[in-house]
Amino acid sequence: MTTTHSVIIIGSGPAGYTAGLYAARAMMEPLMFAGYMSGGQLMLTSDIENFPGYPQGIGGPEMMLELRTQAERFGLKVQDKNVEKVDLGSRPFKVWVEGQEFNAESIIICTGAEATWLGVEGEEEQKGRGISTCATCDGAFFKNEEVIVIGGGDSAMEEATFLTRFAEKVTIIHRRDVFKASKVMLERAKAHPKIEIKTHRQVTKWLSDEKGLTGALIEDPRDGSTEEIACTGAFIAIGHKPITEFLAGQVVTDSEGYILHEEHTMTSVPGVFAAGDVVDTRYRQAITAAGMGCQAAIDAERWLESQH
Ligand code: NDP
Repeated sequence: MTTTHSVIIIGSGPAGYTAGLYAARAMMEPLMFAGYMSGGQLMLTSDIENFPGYPQGIGGPEMMLELRTQAERFGLKVQDKNVEKVDLGSRPFKVWVEGQEFNAESIIICTGAEATWLGVEGEEEQKGRGISTCATCDGAFFKNEEVIVIGGGDSAMEEATFLTRFAEKVTIIHRRDVFKASKVMLERAKAHPKIEIKTHRQVTKWLSDEKGLTGALIEDPRDGSTEEIACTGAFIAIGHKPITEFLAGQVVTDSEGYILHEEHTMTSVPGVFAAGDVVDTRYRQAITAAGMGCQAAIDAERWLESQH
C-alpha cells in the first residue's frame, strides 16, 4: 500500500523551504522532493544582502541550509531527488520519483525558474564569480568597475540601469539592433551617461585570469569580426524559463510555462498550489518567494480542512 501524504512539496528554494516550515508546524507532516540540486537558484549566489535579518549578508548556499535545517527541525522530510512526472487527474495525486510512486492529498509546486545562460566557453567556471543573472543580487559587488549586460529586453534595460548605481560603466551587448525592450525602458538606458549600447554583438567566449572575469570576446554576427571587451562583471539577461516541464500541461500556465494562480496560491487544479519563481514573472526575489511559500502552505492547510 502506498502511503498518502497530506502534502508533498516539489522544489526547494526559499518558497519550498518556507512552505515546508509552515506545513510542518501545522502538523501536516510534509514530504519534500528537493531535486538533485537542492536549494534552487540561490545556490549560485555568492552573497545575499537583501534578505531581512542578515545584517552582514549571508552566502546563498548557507542560507538555503539554514532554511532547510529550520524546516527539518519541525519535521519536514526532505529527499534530494527530482520528480519525474505527476498525475493530477484525480485524488490522491500521484508523484513519481526514480520510478517510485508517492501519493498526496495536496501538492505545493515550488520548482522555480532557471535563468537562461549563454552557454559559451568559460561560463561554467565564472558563474557566481564574475558572471551573474541577477543584478539585484550581485550588482553591489562591482562598485566603480566595468560591467556588461547581455540582452535586448526589459530585463537587460532594467539590470543595466540598476547597475549604474554601482558600476563606473555599463555596456549593453545585444545581438540585433531591434530591441524587445519597451520604449520607455530602452530610452532610459540610452539616455544614461554611464550606459553604452553595442548592437550586433554576441558574446562567444568569456575571458578570465586567476582573480576572476576580465572580459569577453564579442563577435559581430553579420561578418564574424571579433573584438575583446574588458569587464569584471557580466550580467546575462536573456530571459528565464520556469521549471514546469514535469507537469506535462496538467495545470494552467501562461504561454511561457509560468503557473497561473486561480484563487490565492491555488492553481487550476484544486488541491495543487504553487509558489515562488515558478509563478512569478515580476519580483523574483528570495523574500517574495519565501512569503509566497508561506501563503501556499496556509492555503493548502485551509483547503485540506475544507475537504473534511
Ligand atoms: P525578453 O524575452 O523580452 O528579452 C530577451 C532578450 O534576450 C532579447 O533581446 C533576446 O534577443 C535576447 N536573447 C535571447 N537569447 C539570446 C541569446 N542566446 N544570446 C543573446 N541574446 C539573447 O526577456 P526579458 O527577461 O527581458 O523580459 C521577459 C518579460 O518580463 C517581458 O515581458 C518583459 O517586458 C518583462 N519584464 C518587465 C520589466 C518591467 O516592466 N519592469 C522588467 C523585466 C522584464 P532577440 O531580441 O534577438 O530575441
